Amino acid sequence: MRIKVKWMGCASIIIEADGVNLLAVDPFSPIVNPPRNIELEEHQSLQAIFATHGHFDHISGIHGLLASSQAVCYATKAAAKSIKRQFANTDRVREIRPGEIIDLGFATALPYRSPHAKFPLSLGVQTLARAVREKRLKEAFAITRKHLSFPERGEAVAYEFAIGGKRIDVLGSLPKKANNAIRPGADLLVLAYQGYSDNLSPAMALVKQAMPKKVMLSHFDDAFPPISRCVGTKAAIEAISALGIGAIAPKHGEGVYA
Ligand SMILES: [Zn+2]
Repeated sequence: MRIKVKWMGCASIIIEADGVNLLAVDPFSPIVNPPRNIELEEHQSLQAIFATHGHFDHISGIHGLLASSQAVCYATKAAAKSIKRQFANTDRVREIRPGEIIDLGFATALPYRSPHAKFPLSLGVQTLARAVREKRLKEAFAITRKHLSFPERGEAVAYEFAIGGKRIDVLGSLPKKANNAIRPGADLLVLAYQGYSDNLSPAMALVKQAMPKKVMLSHFDDAFPPISRCVGTKAAIEAISALGIGAIAPKHGEGVYA
């Protein structure tokens, strides 16, 4: 079985086996013209959808995927509450707890604690200044309001997937410190690369802790401007490759074999 992980923009990924889409994590369609977004993917075959945390850019694609598949959605308490409140699709939304193995038959998913990025105040000030400069304050406030109405509540998890003999770890947000909960040696680590003025230091601390065979960066795109921005990935790709680990910053829709 060939396991491929495709990046759909922001922290959104799809895991396919032998060309069939089976699992989705943090589905969200970037606001700015992605050449390929998650809506263009085949959804009927999806078996499960996972949310790493409750922020809108990690859960707002779930409604559409639930509507076009028989998939079950797994999310932490606050995220599950937001999904149910916003989308009222309650019968296929399950609340998960860190450490609890989700057995799907063909695959397992293990959620484990992985703290959300801690946005430094300086980054908030920079973002605000940029919005003023670009005359996009109204959009900035609309996104901030959305952000606040989809709380994370300190619950963020990462997922360790076991599928087709491969182990894939997916982090939807970049923790400030190396995460001891992550088990070293995954075949592929999908790592969000956004949230700090310096993303390289926390990312490298985490990669050195996890020592996976490959790393795919995510969340580095300008998915919801003017709050987000495109983060340069060249330094991270070089630093990860220097450890002898395969590293990629994919294009929208592009995938990596685990
Ligand atoms: Zn978040």
